Amino acid sequence: MTATTSRLRLILGDQLSPQHSWFRQCDETILYVLMECRSETDYVLHHAQKILAIFAAMRDFARQLQAAGHRVHYLAIDDVANRHSFAGNLDLLLAQYAANHIDYQAPDEYRLDQHLAAYRPDGVSVSMVGSEHFYTERDSGTQLFAGRKKWLQEHFYRSLRKQYRVLLDDDEQPLGGQWNFDADNRGSWKGVPAEPVDRRPRHDHSQLWQTITAAGVASFGAPNAEQFGWVLNRSEALQQLDAFIEHGLPYFGQFQDAMSVHAWRMFHSLLSFALNTKMLAPYEVVQRVEAATRAGHAPLAAAEGYIRQILGWREYIRCVYWARMPGYEEENFFQHQRPLPSWFWSGATKMRCVASVLQQSLQQAHAHHIQRLMVIGNFALLAGLDPAALHRWYLGIYIDAFEWVELPNTLGMSQFADGGMLATKPYVSAAAYIDKMSDYCKGCHYDKKQRIGERACPYNALYWDFFSRNEDKLASNPRIGMVYPQLRKMDPDMRQQITAQAEYWRVNLEQL
Ligand code: FAD
Repeated sequence: MTATTSRLRLILGDQLSPQHSWFRQCDETILYVLMECRSETDYVLHHAQKILAIFAAMRDFARQLQAAGHRVHYLAIDDVANRHSFAGNLDLLLAQYAANHIDYQAPDEYRLDQHLAAYRPDGVSVSMVGSEHFYTERDSGTQLFAGRKKWLQEHFYRSLRKQYRVLLDDDEQPLGGQWNFDADNRGSWKGVPAEPVDRRPRHDHSQLWQTITAAGVASFGAPNAEQFGWVLNRSEALQQLDAFIEHGLPYFGQFQDAMSVHAWRMFHSLLSFALNTKMLAPYEVVQRVEAATRAGHAPLAAAEGYIRQILGWREYIRCVYWARMPGYEEENFFQHQRPLPSWFWSGATKMRCVASVLQQSLQQAHAHHIQRLMVIGNFALLAGLDPAALHRWYLGIYIDAFEWVELPNTLGMSQFADGGMLATKPYVSAAAYIDKMSDYCKGCHYDKKQRIGERACPYNALYWDFFSRNEDKLASNPRIGMVYPQLRKMDPDMRQQITAQAEYWRVNLEQL
């Protein structure tokens, strides 16, 4: 005789951690529920691989739970009973199983947090538990930064290093005598050493892709369903972590900011999807990387640089998100309103850097940090694109894009749309920086050295014009350095030409 179900436990698509304490014991009265909902596929236009990866990983997770002896109800996208929202489906399952309690793990996204917090069906008790994933609590940032005008990541990062004793020596001082080796992490890449071989397992998910499209889900980008390359469960994620530590980590620091048309992932780990869906825990990644450098397998600068991304940036970004929501998505410091040109969805622009990063993003559903920040984000800020529209684009295109991590990165770090609460200065550059860090400018239709003219690189005039038109907002920022003295020294005629050229680019964005 099967026991009566008294409890439903909802598992969201980014809560795929088999390590969660929920799964320590099997209990016949508990039914785990996973659902593929149109509310989740449709809140923004997603890259095909993002939808495919989440559904394939959810299906894999459900199978593993069942194999471990747990009871599971899985509502697929094409299930006729599917009501396509969490509340609608929970109503359905409560009635079907006569359960009287629902548990869910704290959602990372404000939208879902609100949706589930508002769901209180009659006669059913509902409780939220922690996801047991992050180092910090949602409100850790609010406490740590109370009363501070700028929320400096470095301050946050150091305090976590001390609290969790990461990369410290016996005297509780930073290993190697420095907290931060960022200055060592700025090399450009000339093809040596070779980009590590992509060792991620390949799976054929064409059947699932057919089901998704037949259900009417819209998407963009290449599905690559037959040779699907994203890690989809914990054991694949652990293999990817091993491969990264072996082949990528030793060079991670040195080439962290480098970009090339010949190496789309460079020495990056490609672990963000596995981390954000919680297949991997941040502390286990940090521990493994620390152990690798202590064993002499990777330079300290590389390990520190990598750990800073996870222990520093990832946790910090999450704290910013929860401290600033709701309303963060509407901030627009520069009042930029221009819609995104259509080539954001096709990659068809003559700017070789932008085309290369966009085409890679459409093909791989991934671009690394500097590509996102200093190619696409940089262009968007200089051209005055609407940050909310840009946020929706970033949220759709990248495999790892979940709002809690995407929004502060896009709106705060990349677009300075929060007025500099997160970033100490706008991350913008003219062509020279892109040329220094990449091979994009070679063979480009535009000339990296020119500011004015049909063939001048658009970043150049847009860069100077950005500072010129925002002088009242930026001139007093001490981190901006030489820009304003240089602008003031510039020939007034040249300044006028720059303004006209920048306006020309902005009006003719589609033709770039
Ligand atoms: P690696 O370079 O190998 O870095 C290791 C890990 O560090 C990443 O997996 C990630 O978990 C973490 N990390 C690194 N930088 C950041 C950061 N700035 N914020 C938070 N975590 C970080 N990251 C996302 O996970 N989701 C997003 O939606 C996202 N959107 C971004 C949007 C913009 C405009 C920018 C500038 C950055 C964004 N990032 C985002 C951060 C970063 O680009 C990605 O985490 C990284 O490219 C993922 O690839 P990887 O796993 O190979 O990273």
